[in-house]
Amino acid sequence: ESKLALITRFIRQFPDFPSKGIVFRDICPIMKHPAALTAVMDLFEKHVRETQPLVDLIVGIDARGFLFGPLLAQRLGVGFVMVRKKGKLPGPTVSVAYTLEYGTAEAEIQEDSVSPGQKVVLIDDLLATGGTLFAACELMKKRGAEILGCLVVVELNDLSGREKLKPHAVFSLIQY
Ligand code: 5GP
Repeated sequence: ESKLALITRFIRQFPDFPSKGIVFRDICPIMKHPAALTAVMDLFEKHVRETQPLVDLIVGIDARGFLFGPLLAQRLGVGFVMVRKKGKLPGPTVSVAYTLEYGTAEAEIQEDSVSPGQKVVLIDDLLATGGTLFAACELMKKRGAEILGCLVVVELNDLSGREKLKPHAVFSLIQY
């Protein structure tokens, strides 16, 4: 069985979550199956080593980006930084507001978490409209970081998140 086939077996779908008409892709089973999680990390590590060898930091998105980001950072021997929902981080922070399907949200980093010129790769579990990763990219730009690309386990093609994130490259393992 290929790594991608293995990973696909451990992604579930839940119709009408969190609201009617949305099909939620659930990656929790991946976390429960070490071989599936290893396959995810193998593919991410290979991609970054081949295409972004100069990366300085992995930047994970609240909350499921925190499941994969630190594991990848450890494999690459680089640091990990959290993009959090507003109000969770102590000390001086930089924040950016972004729109969700209903209403708005704010994403935040610690001001000293990224330095100007640092090369970053962003990571989350899933790309839908791209609004969340776009906001995280804005935070990186505010700090003068150089964005090398974005990684997600799952990409929902119909929502065109990839277009929204241009010119930044998106690498996804599974597409629906
Ligand atoms: P976007 O901002 O691209 O529209 O939505 C992506 C964000 O919402 C990600 O942080 C992701 O964790 C979460 N999200 C949206 N839809 C889903 C889904 O179907 N499954 C999972 N696991 N996360 C989702």
